[in-house]
Amino acid sequence: MGKGASTPYWNGFRTQEFWRFRQAVAMKDQWNETLRCPVCDKTGRASLSQDNGDTPTIQLVPDGFKVVSTRHGPDFYCGVCDVAVKP
Ligand SMILES: [Zn+2]
Repeated sequence: MGKGASTPYWNGFRTQEFWRFRQAVAMKDQWNETLRCPVCDKTGRASLSQDNGDTPTIQLVPDGFKVVSTRHGPDFYCGVCDVAVKP
């Protein structure tokens, strides 16, 4: 190591632990996606979470939107226009 004492030896360890923690949170925690209807331009914020599987779980459906089950999994639809909205 260098001779400078300005960097304590535990700094690297701490940074590693921090990023491991951040990754774990990012993989488990929930996140928000902004939905926008391509027809009426309505927007809403959906909340999803993912634990271990590949398919996210929808926690919150924004007002004016609905969830429709497709063969690929749940999809957001505009409740008024009945069209699929892309996150
Ligand atoms: Zn719409």
